[in-house]
Amino acid sequence: MHSRIDRGGRLVVVGANIAGLRAVEAARQTGFDGPVTLIGAEPHLPYNRPPLSKGFLRADTGGEAQYFRGEESLRSELAVDLRLGAPATALCPDTRTIRVGDEELPYSAAVIATGARARTLPGASRLRGVHTLRTLDDARRIRAALVPGARLVVVGAGFVGAEVAFTAKESGVDVTVLEAAPTPLVRAVGSEMGAVLGGLLGRRGIALRCGAAVEELQGTDRIESVRLADGTTLPTDLVVVGIGADPATDWLAGSGLELDDGVVCDRHLRTSAPGVYAAGDVARWFNPVLDRTVRLEHWTTAAEQGALAARNAVEPTTDTVCSTVPYFWSDWGEHRIQFVGDPRADEVSVVLGDAGSDSFLALYRRGERVIGALGVDQRRAVMRLRTAIARRATWAEARADLVDSARARD
Ligand SMILES: Cc1cc2nc3c(=O)[nH]c(=O)nc-3n(C[C@H](O)[C@H](O)[C@H](O)COP(=O)(O)OP(=O)(O)OC[C@H]3O[C@@H](n4cnc5c(N)ncnc54)[C@H](O)[C@@H]3O)c2cc1C
Repeated sequence: MHSRIDRGGRLVVVGANIAGLRAVEAARQTGFDGPVTLIGAEPHLPYNRPPLSKGFLRADTGGEAQYFRGEESLRSELAVDLRLGAPATALCPDTRTIRVGDEELPYSAAVIATGARARTLPGASRLRGVHTLRTLDDARRIRAALVPGARLVVVGAGFVGAEVAFTAKESGVDVTVLEAAPTPLVRAVGSEMGAVLGGLLGRRGIALRCGAAVEELQGTDRIESVRLADGTTLPTDLVVVGIGADPATDWLAGSGLELDDGVVCDRHLRTSAPGVYAAGDVARWFNPVLDRTVRLEHWTTAAEQGALAARNAVEPTTDTVCSTVPYFWSDWGEHRIQFVGDPRADEVSVVLGDAGSDSFLALYRRGERVIGALGVDQRRAVMRLRTAIARRATWAEARADLVDSARARD
């Protein structure tokens, strides 16, 4: 078969989670039969990250990590040269090599899928009992500490923080969530709906304090309390810091690749270096659906981009544009929260259910167009809206479509 890569040329994928895995799978699906190397900093096979802040944290029912494929399947079925527990430390576009340990691995094409790393607070590393949550090993440590009766302070009311709070509460832990902004989840769903979702935390008995800036983590070698800027001190046994993540690009310093809060890519996920693509949480690219450059931290986008980047990298006839309506979900106990599109709206309107209840759908309008939707336990409607946003439906069309689909179900 013909490939964009010369015969015998190697595809190297850096980052062995969902974007990296989908990249190697897609390369093989195109018929690419050259050598493929997958490099992962963590010692684990690619595993499903979203459960780590949800059911996995339950000591009683959490179960084991969800691996997407066994080692044998990766090495034999996909013929992947698997390098786990070994981070790439440099990429050189001139020699087309990637450094792992002492080795300079040559590549004909490469996909960067190194994701993101959790941000933390000053002083966190010197105190036991202060955690961030990104990896399986982080989740195992937090799970062991979530014992009934323990006191937990979650710093940051983003989705990961809210999920940890819900799960910890279900485990009998006393939970307080601190948010520096006036409302939770502003960046993800806007302030109006952020406040509504904050109500869901409150109804579950989780104390949410907004406008609460952390001044200091206090303790000698273990966390004992959190001091806020207003002087309040909250005694605690455990802190989970959920204040976002930064793209894992430190290893690319000196590579000459254009970096700007992520690896900068064009619409085809090509980076500024020939033959090098990027995908997933680490990639910043121009998304035509939104008419702007974004870096998303959503599982579905990472999976889609990994596959697309690899196909574009190895297939001579493929040059697909990455155009996708952002989508993420979050599970708060038994509630499924879903958001599609863009939260930067002129108007947000609840069109199904009631914002004060545990199930509703809100539409986001900019100009004449529907640009986003937030659903709590509204799976079918949210997916219809993802399609409507992709075809640039007007506000009126989207609302009429929802009425029609509701009638069709009656
Ligand atoms: C706790 C948690 C819960 C989440 N829940 C949801 C959810 O409910 N819904 C949703 O849509 N999204 C969710 N997400 C986000 C989702 O998991 C990410 O968008 C997705 O994992 C991104 O995949 P990725 O492959 O791009 O990056 P990552 O998953 O970050 O994987 C990148 C991999 O690359 C490795 N790496 C880093 N540097 C190097 C290097 N130099 N060399 C080699 N390897 C390297 C990392 O160790 C990592 O294993 C959640 C994230 C977290 C942390």
